Amino acid sequence: MYQNGDTIYALASGFGTAGVAVIRVSGPHAKLTARRLTTIKKLEPGRVYFSVIKDGRKLLDKAIVLYFKAPHSFTGEDIVEYQVHGGRGVISSVMQALSKIDGLRPAERGEYSRRAVINGKMDLTEAEGLLDLIHAETDEQRKQALAQMDGNLSALYEGWRQKLVHHLAYAEAFIDFPEEEIPPEKEHEIDGDIQKLIKNIEKHLDDNRRGERLRDGYQIAIVGVPNVGKSSLINALTKREVAIVSQTAGTTRDIVEAHLDVAGFPVILADTAGLRESQEEIEAEGIRRAVKKAEKADLILFVQDAKRYPKAEKLPKVLARKKVITIWNKKDLCKVKENKTDFFVSAKTGKGIQRLWDEIKTILTNSFAGGMAITRERYRVALKQCVEHLKDALRVQELELKTEDLRLAARALGRITGRIEVDELLDVIFKDFCIGK
Ligand code: GDP
Repeated sequence: MYQNGDTIYALASGFGTAGVAVIRVSGPHAKLTARRLTTIKKLEPGRVYFSVIKDGRKLLDKAIVLYFKAPHSFTGEDIVEYQVHGGRGVISSVMQALSKIDGLRPAERGEYSRRAVINGKMDLTEAEGLLDLIHAETDEQRKQALAQMDGNLSALYEGWRQKLVHHLAYAEAFIDFPEEEIPPEKEHEIDGDIQKLIKNIEKHLDDNRRGERLRDGYQIAIVGVPNVGKSSLINALTKREVAIVSQTAGTTRDIVEAHLDVAGFPVILADTAGLRESQEEIEAEGIRRAVKKAEKADLILFVQDAKRYPKAEKLPKVLARKKVITIWNKKDLCKVKENKTDFFVSAKTGKGIQRLWDEIKTILTNSFAGGMAITRERYRVALKQCVEHLKDALRVQELELKTEDLRLAARALGRITGRIEVDELLDVIFKDFCIGK
């Protein structure tokens, strides 16, 4: 698929009508496109040009033109960027003009980033950080993605890998000179380092999946028997009409989701069908789905009728180990004495909703607190493999076997950043990118 030497072009900005659109050309013929399309006499890097854009004698637009000389560009190749006016007619005419130039072809998904990785401008975790940054919807997602793009995960994993490579090189030297015995204190040092590394990686793995949850969204499920006011509560919480409020029991048959930005954290708030044994088929299906949804949730808002306080309904067994906030709704209809620990709200009047939000924000902040987190399952799998190989290395006595285990452990870490076995990983990773990135 990827042919080094091709010059690729794509719209790097979003589709649709906008003031400006950025068309990016990368590869050996990039500079040549400026000669064809513009009237610039001498294109130099680091300068800003304003030129007409033409296709032969046909005037297409007037644009800002930038030249990034290899290797000082995003891809590491020559790049020419055309900042044209962002109309569909302009974009398509410039793209068409580019397509007529020999050696040029439209870029494939993620091809710019792929080239950047191949040319050593960034590693895989940094490229994935960039992808996350483009997709970040909330501030905390943005922070995590930016840190990853800046190489914080890369530095962590590379640091670990370098340490292993160091011991590996040392051990191999002794294998090459069998007449030399590895000094016992050196062997001790290697084993000590392996133990430390196992501890560090296991600590890093024990992160409650907060990195992945920050990417995917923190799931909150609103659960309770019919008519306690779940739909009303989701409305009160979101202050938007996202769920139907109805007086008939069991009418919220399906799950209604609201995607929210709560203090910078992405939250998916789901209203579920009433948790109650049901004869009616559609409702039973709704309940099944509700429990399934709630099983996946990070937090459950278990809604109760305040009139029954303190007699709470029973939560289904499968949800027993979940983090739960019990909420006593319809406070406006009864005169129970409030206390500091229980959450009394009125979805109708809005009373208690702010306190509930404050509690949710505290839970969110705590659950996402901590250092660098694993942001992808791919990293988690490789880290677990690394730990296994390190444990194997500790178990064996023979230096050859120990070395082989260390090599496998280093390779597992290398797969995360892409230091080795890059090719087979590239296809998987860049398929999520869009064209022009
Ligand atoms: P769900 O079946 O649990 O989703 O319950 P709904 O949100 O559909 O509410 C059931 C009924 O209770 C509706 O008539 C709501 O207007 C009413 N309701 C919900 N919350 C409150 C509340 O805090 N106070 C009062 N007075 N009525 C409420």
